[in-house]
Amino acid sequence: MSRRKYVSFLYTVFAMNCLFCKIVEGNLPSAPVYQDELCYAFSDIHPQAPVHVLVVPREHINSLADSNESDQPLLGHLLWAAGEIARSQGLAKGYRVVVNTGQDGGQTVDHLHLHLLGGRAHGWPPG
Ligand code: 5GP
Ligand code: ZN
Repeated sequence: MSRRKYVSFLYTVFAMNCLFCKIVEGNLPSAPVYQDELCYAFSDIHPQAPVHVLVVPREHINSLADSNESDQPLLGHLLWAAGEIARSQGLAKGYRVVVNTGQDGGQTVDHLHLHLLGGRAHGWPPG
């Protein structure tokens, strides 16, 4: 098996066991906020702010650390979608977009996702 095919095979195995892939595919329930051909956005089950939406690519990517050059349009789209959702949620006073990445970044679900947090003021630096 070529390296490319092997990597693709590994990603299929990851995706089969991935919580957010199951949510994207509709095999686990979620509260949808926005969706299009590239991404799906839904309310976080443990909200950390009055508005706490997760924006995830339909395609399984483990994390930002695993993204590559060819993912640039998708990554831009996710950021754009977060802005669109913020506008639709009326977050005119501002909001925060967070991408926890890897162990030190506090990532707990290994499917790339943006947190959109709004409806309250956020401190800096983050914890
Ligand atoms: P991370 O810690 O990886 O940056 O963020 C994962 C997020 O997914 C957490 O905020 C957590 O509350 C959320 N989460 C975990 N499991 C579920 C679930 O089954 N449904 C939804 N809607 N959110 C989840
Ligand atoms: Zn996944």
